[in-house]
Amino acid sequence: MTDFSSLGITPKLLEAIQSLGFQSPTEVQQKTIPVLLEKQTDIVALAQTGTGKTAAFGLPMLQQINTNSKKTQALVIAPTRELCVQISKELVKYASSISGLKIVPVYGGASIQEQAKMVKKGAQVLVATPGRMQDMIRRKYVDISSISLCVLDEADEMLNMGFKEDITNILSHTPDGKQTWLFSATMPNEVAKIAQAFMHNPVEITVGTKNAASANIKHEYYLVAGRDRYNALKRLSDSQPDIFSIVFCRTKHDTQRVAEKLIEDGYSAGALHGDLSQNQRDLVMKAFRAKQIRILVATDVAARGIDVNDITHVIHYQLPDEIEIYTHRSGRTGRASSLGTSMIILTKGELKKIQTLKRIINAEIVAQEVPEPNEILAKQMHHFASKIKDTKVNAEMDAYLTEANTLLQAFSKDELIKKLMSIEFNRLSAYYNKKTSGISKITADDKPIQKSKDARYNINIGSRDDYNWKNLKTFLVDFLGLETEDVYHVDVLENNAYFNTSMDKKEQVLAAFDKFKLDGRLIQVRMTDKRGQHLQNESRFTQKRQKKRPIKSRRKK
Ligand code: ADP
Ligand code: MG
Repeated sequence: MTDFSSLGITPKLLEAIQSLGFQSPTEVQQKTIPVLLEKQTDIVALAQTGTGKTAAFGLPMLQQINTNSKKTQALVIAPTRELCVQISKELVKYASSISGLKIVPVYGGASIQEQAKMVKKGAQVLVATPGRMQDMIRRKYVDISSISLCVLDEADEMLNMGFKEDITNILSHTPDGKQTWLFSATMPNEVAKIAQAFMHNPVEITVGTKNAASANIKHEYYLVAGRDRYNALKRLSDSQPDIFSIVFCRTKHDTQRVAEKLIEDGYSAGALHGDLSQNQRDLVMKAFRAKQIRILVATDVAARGIDVNDITHVIHYQLPDEIEIYTHRSGRTGRASSLGTSMIILTKGELKKIQTLKRIINAEIVAQEVPEPNEILAKQMHHFASKIKDTKVNAEMDAYLTEANTLLQAFSKDELIKKLMSIEFNRLSAYYNKKTSGISKITADDKPIQKSKDARYNINIGSRDDYNWKNLKTFLVDFLGLETEDVYHVDVLENNAYFNTSMDKKEQVLAAFDKFKLDGRLIQVRMTDKRGQHLQNESRFTQKRQKKRPIKSRRKK
């Protein structure tokens, strides 16, 4: 067995590694650390999430810091605030036995002055998000003109989030002679391009197959009608009494909505997305790590790279657009040799994606049926009874039992068991007896559901705002959490637009747009009876002006 000392790591760092309980280096650590300690070089290292990439760059990085100087010597760039905090915490642990080594996280949403102060005191290592880092550079709060090392962590995700320009800009303030280390879970073309543009003959290290998923993860999909997604999520959660999970949604709006519904329904759930303040996000993450929150509902961006152990399930409330993101999501579970399950809530329209997904992750994705209420109740009752069985009785309680004894003495053992079990049973059965908890059965070869009567809406955005029928439809589907086929007859005029849904979606659509603002402007959606009118003249006119513009910036500030 390889151990850390044989990799060339100094005793001080070894001490810290030992106290962290790391027994032996992971594969990516075994492959990168000796190379990075031996020579000054650029490197591209690819390994799936949860394989210990932070230590793979962190240890050799810390080892080359000169603590006699207070100058900034290394810069780590990571996509999100959470990741930034997580990486610096991890690095601080590794550096715990090295005196005079300062690591400062630099990220948006917190006081820039405070961060500047910390940097000024002398930080040899900065761990930064691209946005805030540029701000710090502009205000001359940092000096990275003589760093000897720059690490791009989660490079694939940074590019996904549109940070390419920001990275280019930041790197332009760094010296040419520095080393650049790029770490990524996947290798899309964009990453290869970055490597080409910014690196000199990088050593390439790949662990496992590119873009592969972990063998510790079981993949399952559950076919449901689009409108049953939420009920399916509830059933999947209820059928796993000890669930500790992340539920991924595609939009901030869905994330918030699903989390709120879960909380209303009595779950310890929380939302994590970019519209929350830094403070709110920190609180949610803290509660999740402490397992006070058992179901974290998150957007891909906000949950990126988050390293929380023991996550039992990753649930895809919707599939992501890009397959690589699926690997990232699933990688939140099945970490550190524990087993995890990745569950996809799928509609029929998405069935063909499963084949592609299987091929790319090179793993089986098993079709499963959403559990029936009776299975769920049986599981929960078993779980609750086991919990009672395993509960330790504390002798100190005797002093407080007199009253309880008086109140309960008339009941037989059977009656007491029933009452005790009812505490859990009543809540669940009340829910599952409700009509609204139902799920329609879907099989792969069902005919599509007939649409009911149409509802037509008018919305006050148009081609003037760079919308055309196509990108407006994408926006609506995404924003409303509907399926592509649920939004149709989208007609865009200059100042406003029309679209249809089936009548049963009416409440959902109107509620979603209630007091909704886009770029500070109130977006209004009203029902209209001008159904299906011919708008071709205007459309043709507006087509000329169609420009490509992302509907919403994918980038987080
Ligand atoms: P990645 O960046 O590849 O997703 P991380 O660096 O976040 O992975 O590491 C995942 C988890 O594994 C962290 O909790 C980290 O402390 C732990 N870890 C890293 N290296 C080792 C090791 N050699 N032995 C045991 N645990 C490790
Ligand atoms: Mg990482």
